[in-house]
Amino acid sequence: MQKKIALEEHFMHPDFVDYWSNTAINISPELFGKVRNKLEDFGERRLNEMDSIGVEKSVLSLAGPGVQAEYFTNKAIEKAKFINDYLAEKILDKRSRYGGFAHLAMQNPKAAADELERTTRDLGFSGALVNGITNGAYLDDDRFSVLWERASDLKVPIYIHPNNPADIPAMYQGHPEMWGPVWSWTVETGSHALRIIFSGIFDRFPNAKLILGHMGETLPYQLWRFNSRWEISNKGKKKLNLIPSEYFKKNFWCTTAGVCSDEPLRCAIDALGTDRVMFSVDYPFEKSEHAGTWIDNANLSVAEKSMVCYENAKSLLRL
Ligand code: MN
Repeated sequence: MQKKIALEEHFMHPDFVDYWSNTAINISPELFGKVRNKLEDFGERRLNEMDSIGVEKSVLSLAGPGVQAEYFTNKAIEKAKFINDYLAEKILDKRSRYGGFAHLAMQNPKAAADELERTTRDLGFSGALVNGITNGAYLDDDRFSVLWERASDLKVPIYIHPNNPADIPAMYQGHPEMWGPVWSWTVETGSHALRIIFSGIFDRFPNAKLILGHMGETLPYQLWRFNSRWEISNKGKKKLNLIPSEYFKKNFWCTTAGVCSDEPLRCAIDALGTDRVMFSVDYPFEKSEHAGTWIDNANLSVAEKSMVCYENAKSLLRL
């Protein structure tokens, strides 16, 4: 069994269930309860599942959207601090097994940057996981420059995790099954990442690091087309130092979270680089056994498997 680090692994706290339940609309109350129990456990149950597939370390993040859905900014800031301290305390005596991503009150970008700094410096966290938009704003918004700058200074990545878009586009009408993980989250999160590239964030912050889950939200498959078409569509309006695909190889990483399939894995590695793809489960929303068995038997060289399962995350997150 290949030794592993997993980094889209979620937890929950009772005070944050109401935020979460709004995005978990497609699951039955029974499944909701089961998943919630797994999310709130930091002990034997989770550790046994990690052991069963060779996960040495899980980097934990709050199941979204958390305080990004909070109406009051001050309350969001306060609760983000609370949940980061809670995670730090929960994993304190298990630091060899657990790491953490900061949860941020994106309603106030300066406070989010300060909290990112506090959690990485004082709590040993490895960056932040941001659940898509906050009050309709994407991370290419000028207001978030302070966060990109701070993350760059701290040399930590920002993981963009799916969340629902601000409204329901017509293309989903009559097709609720396409809403959420089947398709709409991929469209939303992939578009979020493209906005960041085309807005020139990575020219202004060349050392910024962005992680996407779900094998890069289909983007690795499209790099050639982004390159060939963006100039025509852009008509010279936006200036970028590099062509789009170069940012994917320079500023991007992706995880296998929630996608246990060889074909997109091969595509992600070939498109982004062997050092850019990292194993994850998306616990407890994906089955550990499924993800672990798949990657152990994936059609990769020994060196590739070691990098994808362990070395890349160790290096990026400085574990
Ligand atoms: Mn997830």
